[in-house]
Amino acid sequence: MHFRTIIEPFRIKTVEPIRRTTREERKAAIVEAGYNPFLLRAEDILIDLLTDSGTGAMSSRQWAGMMMGDESYAGARSFYRFEAAVQKITGFKHVIPTHQGRAAERILFGSMLKPGDIVLNNTHFDTTRANVEYRKATAIDIPIPEARQPELIHPFKGNMDLEALERILAEQGEKVPLVMITVTNNSGGGQPVSMANLRAASEICHRYNKPLFLDACRFAENAWFIKVREEGYADKTPLAIAQEMFSYADGCTMSAKKDGLANIGGFLAMNDDELAQRCKAMEILGEGFPTYGGLAGYDLEAIAVGLEEVLDEDYLRYRIRSVEYLGERMDEAGIPYVKPTGGHAVYIDAKAMLPHIPWHEYPAWALSVVLFLEGGVRSVEIGSVMFGRQPDGSEKPAAMELVRLAFPRRVYTQSHVDYLAEVLAYVNGLRDRIRGLRMVYEPPVLRHFTARFEPAHGALVEE
Ligand SMILES: *Cc1c(COP(=O)(O)O)cnc(C)c1O
Repeated sequence: MHFRTIIEPFRIKTVEPIRRTTREERKAAIVEAGYNPFLLRAEDILIDLLTDSGTGAMSSRQWAGMMMGDESYAGARSFYRFEAAVQKITGFKHVIPTHQGRAAERILFGSMLKPGDIVLNNTHFDTTRANVEYRKATAIDIPIPEARQPELIHPFKGNMDLEALERILAEQGEKVPLVMITVTNNSGGGQPVSMANLRAASEICHRYNKPLFLDACRFAENAWFIKVREEGYADKTPLAIAQEMFSYADGCTMSAKKDGLANIGGFLAMNDDELAQRCKAMEILGEGFPTYGGLAGYDLEAIAVGLEEVLDEDYLRYRIRSVEYLGERMDEAGIPYVKPTGGHAVYIDAKAMLPHIPWHEYPAWALSVVLFLEGGVRSVEIGSVMFGRQPDGSEKPAAMELVRLAFPRRVYTQSHVDYLAEVLAYVNGLRDRIRGLRMVYEPPVLRHFTARFEPAHGALVEE
């Protein structure tokens, strides 16, 4: 290779304008939204990094595939294409489409959990935790201790703590109907899980007769990290690596809005015949007949093509590099973030950046609001607003106060990232003047989606 620049491995065929606004317009918009970025209108946002979920750009092959969608109620051709695409990667016998990832979680936990049960996970994603707790079971996170130190560099910070896994299974195994591993570990910083960790966790689970499920939303990004960071995988294709990852599991839940490169969709897959039967019965109640599961035939086509495209090496190299590039710009500006950068997102360490804001005034939430106010950038808090409310109604600080900047797939280019880096450096310059927030409304579950706030000390950014 003579050339070092990693380019976006696509050319742009359709464009969608984004709109600049003034600071006054953004101020009015965020006040109207109760200082909750989830309640903003998307058209008031310049660069939307709220999530990488369902926000990607589809390829011309995916759009062409959609024209081939078979909308038959049962046994549609599109289902069989989708099923074959999922089985090629995962090897699982039963593939149950769902309208998105959380529906797969609801069906799985609805079929497997009873009150008092325990589910172990490297780190539960928010909907995963909520679906476990909705069944009156307990969701326990057991990441390796390194995962909780934002500044510490570790190649596989998403790994599960195998000693904790073994200990909990030995002491309370009768309460644990399944173990999950999230690849990559979204709430823990988008950090990957190594093949060695997956293999060892699988061995432990099976020794205790517990099924291991992958929360596979970002399986392709995880496969890429294994390829470039784990010994023995450099010459393997992302597909072969993904196949090995799934070979250690008994099933998976998946949001096709992430590494399915689709705008909607998901699936639940497994080998166990009897469990699949129970899941399909629940599927019909909530999602639809098991060959469409809440999706149109054309959605199944888009996912089938997306699952193939997401394992392309040029795509994965560009994807992971874009995120890493922002991290390098943040290093130059001295902005603390979870290191190394993850697969789909950069996580700013708001606790380190805003040490003067106490956790109960939600430093990461405040920072996320300021990024919108100053630069028109939308991000999301992963901190004490998202995780502080306990099932018993009490409140305690989350392990970390992070602001996630999630990258939609194939949407933004390097100049967008350069702009973003400038906004971050500017906001970092204001950090001593940023103040906390007070929550003035919260719903009973998943409060971050609809909670409303006010500045706790007059102004959010002191004059
Ligand atoms: C997005 C996500 C989910 C839920 O998927 P939806 O499609 O949003 O319902 C579950 N787990 C992880 C790790 C996720 O990132």
